[in-house]
Amino acid sequence: MKNVSRKFFLRYLAGVIMRTFDDSYRHKGLRRQLTETVRQKGITDERVLEAIGQIPRHFFMDSAFDKIAYEDRAFPIGEEQTISQPYTVAYQTQLLEVKPFEKVLEIGTGSAYQACVLAEMGAQVYTIERQKKLFEKNKLFTYLRKYPSLKFFYGDGFEGLPTYGPFDKVIVTAAAPFIPPKLIQQLKPGGRMVIPLGEGNVQRMLRLTRQPDGGATQEVFDNFSFVPMLEGRNG
Ligand code: SAH
Repeated sequence: MKNVSRKFFLRYLAGVIMRTFDDSYRHKGLRRQLTETVRQKGITDERVLEAIGQIPRHFFMDSAFDKIAYEDRAFPIGEEQTISQPYTVAYQTQLLEVKPFEKVLEIGTGSAYQACVLAEMGAQVYTIERQKKLFEKNKLFTYLRKYPSLKFFYGDGFEGLPTYGPFDKVIVTAAAPFIPPKLIQQLKPGGRMVIPLGEGNVQRMLRLTRQPDGGATQEVFDNFSFVPMLEGRNG
């Protein structure tokens, strides 16, 4: 029995490793097209477009989605969660205006695709996921080792990461029912948070900038649709 499970584990591991290196010319071509689609929808930051063009999105989802991984859509990743639409990832990343070496806190790791886009742009990324299974899955995802500046946490995003802050930027990738006060507190003065706000099917994208007195100013952008930000850990 022990040998059998070891055999299956090794086979599984081999599969993971093979898929990690399976980034074909076809995938690269589809990725170039996706980058152009995102550009045509209004994304202008070349560094964001470059990161989208670099990262093999098909690694971040089940192999059943291989042929459609480069469509500009959200896809299921298990546990009723989704990998965000590339345009949405690009939109939030552009609003965040990340610079190399900045400390960025992400709420909602999910597939880790958004986290990799930030790491590819040179940020030091701290990302939190509340679903234990998704958190554990990323431990076996060998591609992520490409980014040593990426740190994964299992926890409740409403709490942030007080011991690792303050952060230059915070990005929330789930629909927030309200602006979590602890996340504002963990921003540096002048630091920014990009957050989709609202319950139900539609959220409004906001960008908050922390003021030296501890308050925050707010800018309002387009509507998007995210899975809900839920309180507490699950698992
Ligand atoms: N950034 C992800 C998008 C994932 S969808 C990507 O690139 O794929 C949103 C994720 O937020 C889900 O995985 C969900 O489990 C997680 N989430 C929801 N509420 C949360 C919370 N309070 N703290 C941490 N993660 C949360």
